[in-house]
Amino acid sequence: MRPRVVIAGAGFSGLWAAKTLANQPVDVILVDRNNYHTFLPLLYQVAAAELEPEDIAYPVRSILRRFKNVRFVLAEINRIDLDKRTVFSDEYAITYDYLILATGSSTQFFGTPGAAENSFQLKTLEQGITLRNHILQCFELASRNIDDDKRQQMLTFTIVGGGPTGVEFAGALAELIHGPLRKDYPAIDFDYVKVVIVEAANSVLLSFPKILRDYALDRLYRMKVNVMLETIVDKVTPDTVHFKDKNILPTQTVVWTAGICADPVAKTWGLPTARNGLLMVLPTLEVQGRDEVSVIGDLSSMEEARRQLPMTAPVAVQQGAHAAKNIIRKLRGTQTTPFVYKDRGAMVTIGRNTAVALVSKRAFKGFFAWILWLIVHLINLIGFRNRLMVVINWTMDYLLFERAIRLILPLRAFQARKKKQT
Ligand SMILES: Cc1cc2nc3c(=O)[nH]c(=O)nc-3n(C[C@H](O)[C@H](O)[C@H](O)COP(=O)(O)OP(=O)(O)OC[C@H]3O[C@@H](n4cnc5c(N)ncnc54)[C@H](O)[C@@H]3O)c2cc1C
Repeated sequence: MRPRVVIAGAGFSGLWAAKTLANQPVDVILVDRNNYHTFLPLLYQVAAAELEPEDIAYPVRSILRRFKNVRFVLAEINRIDLDKRTVFSDEYAITYDYLILATGSSTQFFGTPGAAENSFQLKTLEQGITLRNHILQCFELASRNIDDDKRQQMLTFTIVGGGPTGVEFAGALAELIHGPLRKDYPAIDFDYVKVVIVEAANSVLLSFPKILRDYALDRLYRMKVNVMLETIVDKVTPDTVHFKDKNILPTQTVVWTAGICADPVAKTWGLPTARNGLLMVLPTLEVQGRDEVSVIGDLSSMEEARRQLPMTAPVAVQQGAHAAKNIIRKLRGTQTTPFVYKDRGAMVTIGRNTAVALVSKRAFKGFFAWILWLIVHLINLIGFRNRLMVVINWTMDYLLFERAIRLILPLRAFQARKKKQT
């Protein structure tokens, strides 16, 4: 009988924990509600019709094939009995000796009325596809004979949050609209089209130095993205956004990228929680008083040198490997060690030839940062086919100003969902 490690979530952190435990003297069960791993940093390109969903997803079973001691279970964990050391889904009860929780994060709406019901989110592949369908559908409807106010509403795309996801999506959307869609819809007057970023702070990309923030703002303006700084959303309805200063923006599309919190189900697991419902961990990534349970990635709240670690893929990957190594240490009877994040920098692309990067505290912008961004994302994408397809799509887009992926699919299911919402 070997100890059993159950890992909940096959995102960046869970997958790297499983890989680190491969060929170790443990049996590993990796559980995820999807049978694929999603490369979230490129999700916004699915929503902006730049990449196919399958270009950024990879079947978990294929990844695990070569690891004889790691099994995959497709299930959504909804309950944990910490005393009986068992996790539950609707169909399964799985016992563990060690548990690693790595179920990621959800969107935080800060209690804004109507935001959860009427906004689009960018957290899962399904949400990316839903948003892509909606954007294309807006252009189809706007090309019909409708009144000008309605057309303006259809063609106003509002992105709440000027962080990396909001900025990257706004740039990609502006390029989609003023490139391929302008050619596809000659009947539409593109003066009606508005891409708007709404940001509560006085700049976008707050975690970057001023020189990069200013550059990003300048590039966004040049790409016809309207950035509303120091503006707070008060309410979202199906066809408007209301601001604290009482202004109202008519819009059919609100994409909420502004906040992150834990999935509400995590609160019911009986573990100590921190701000935004995230689960509190010790520096070793273990839960206080439950050292058989570790929490990693976006779901965990660990302060390092009095600052909260960023919710990024490198943090998740490093924590996954570290939590797994700590389990191996325990099995060998040696001391667990605290997690120390090796910060290699951050980067954000704004559009063609345009990105910002902070590497070893050095700031880069423009073409060099953009190339760096392309290389880093290609290297980290899982699977040869995915890399190849992404390179083909990016090259087509770069050379021909064309995007191959403009299908509203599946249309009937999409229309049925819209009908139900309205
Ligand atoms: C749109 C977007 C763009 C981003 N861009 C970047 C970027 O450019 N660079 C960067 O470093 N970071 C980026 N991030 C952040 C980065 O993706 C996350 O920090 C990282 O994915 C966190 O890894 P994780 O393992 O904690 O969670 P995730 O990668 O989110 O994985 C969580 C997994 O758990 C599964 N799951 C959830 N709940 C359950 C359950 N109850 N039962 C079973 N399975 C469950 C999910 O299906 C998922 O597979 C981006 C995030 C988003 C959303």
